[in-house]
Amino acid sequence: MIVITSPGEMNAWSQSARRREKRIGFVPTMGCLHRGHLSLIDVARSHGKCDTAVMSVFVNPLQFAPNEDFDKYPRQWELDKKLAEDAGVDVVFHPSSEDMYSANAKTFVEVADLSSVMCGITRPTHFRGVTTVVAKLLHIVSPQVTVFGQKDAQQCFIIRRMVQDLMMETEIIMAPIIREIDGLAMSSRNAYLSAGERGQAVCLSQSLEVAKKMINAGEKRSAVILEAMRTYIQRNPLAKIDYITVVNTETLQETPEVLQNTLIALAVYFGKTRLIDNIIL
Ligand code: AMP
Repeated sequence: MIVITSPGEMNAWSQSARRREKRIGFVPTMGCLHRGHLSLIDVARSHGKCDTAVMSVFVNPLQFAPNEDFDKYPRQWELDKKLAEDAGVDVVFHPSSEDMYSANAKTFVEVADLSSVMCGITRPTHFRGVTTVVAKLLHIVSPQVTVFGQKDAQQCFIIRRMVQDLMMETEIIMAPIIREIDGLAMSSRNAYLSAGERGQAVCLSQSLEVAKKMINAGEKRSAVILEAMRTYIQRNPLAKIDYITVVNTETLQETPEVLQNTLIALAVYFGKTRLIDNIIL
C-alpha cells in the first residue's frame, strides 16, 4: 500500500493508473476507520468492479462549524494505515489541511436546497464543506467509481446531485449501513458515548424497526409513523431528538405518505454527541 500526501502526486498516480486501464474505486473518509468504512472498499471492488482502491483519510476542517468537534474528532493515523492495508487498499491519500486549502482560497461548491434541510438545519455550513472537499478530491483522484455509505444518506444524495450538475465523470455508489450487533450504526462518534448513552443509543435503529413494522403492516401516513418513532425514542431519558423526518430521496422534501423512494431519517443527541441513522424504502 502506498501513502500519498501531495495532491499533485495523487493526481499523477491516478492518471498513470488510468493510462494502464485501471478502474479506480475511491472511498473518501475522515479516518478513525471501522468496519463500516472498510466495507466500502469491498463494495468498490464487487459492485463497482474496480481493480484499484484509493481511500482518502482527511478530517476536513471546512465541514465543521466553529462550535463543533473538529479539534477533538478522533484521529488514529497509524492504526488507520494498518486497517486500510489489511482491507486491500492500494493507495491512501492523506493530505494536510494546508495541502488541500491555500490560505487565499475563495471557492466553494454548494448544492442548493438539499443542503439546507434535515442535518443542514442544525449544521447550516456542513454540506458546503463536504461538497467543496469532495469536488476537490474527485478532481485529484479522478476515480471511475466513488463509494459513500447510506449511513450519511443525505450526504450521498447531495453528492450525487453535485456530480450530475457539474458533469463529473464518476459513478456514485451508496453502500449499506454496517451496524453493531445490537443495531447501532457504526460511527467514529460512537466513541464519545458514555456507557449509559451507548445503552440507550440503540433506540435510533430500533425506532426505524418500529417504522418498518408499521409500513409492512400497511401504514403509509408519515405523521403516524413519525409519532410512533418519537414516542419510542422519548422513552430513553438521555436521548434528545434533533429531527425525525420522512422525505423523498430526490428532493429531500417532506412527504405526507411513505411511498417508493422514501427516506426516513433521524438525528438524536446524547449529551453533545449527535447520532444519525436512516432507512430507505
Ligand atoms: P466519515 O469518515 O464518517 O466521513 O465516513 C466516511 C464514509 O464512510 C462515508 O461515506 C460514510 O457514509 C461511510 N460510513 C460511515 N459509517 C458507516 C457505516 N456504519 N456503514 C457504512 N458506511 C459508513
